[in-house]
Amino acid sequence: MQPFARHTCPLCGQPNGCAPAAAGSFEVDCWCRQVSVSPQALAQVPEALKGKACLCRACAVADVSAEQGSEPAE
Ligand SMILES: [Zn+2]
Repeated sequence: MQPFARHTCPLCGQPNGCAPAAAGSFEVDCWCRQVSVSPQALAQVPEALKGKACLCRACAVADVSAEQGSEPAE
């Protein structure tokens, strides 16, 4: 099984930074394994792209309940 070679976020169209998609292998570690992807974000992914395109980090961690006054913890 190969990673899906989609490098853009299905929600915002920005680069998703998906390491396996870039490397063409699941043998690489990806930021998405360190974050918990927001169910709200997943729910917004178009049906045709579900399971086929990675979200970008910003969209993946977006939490509608923590929208106000939150700073990215980089
Ligand atoms: Zn995005």
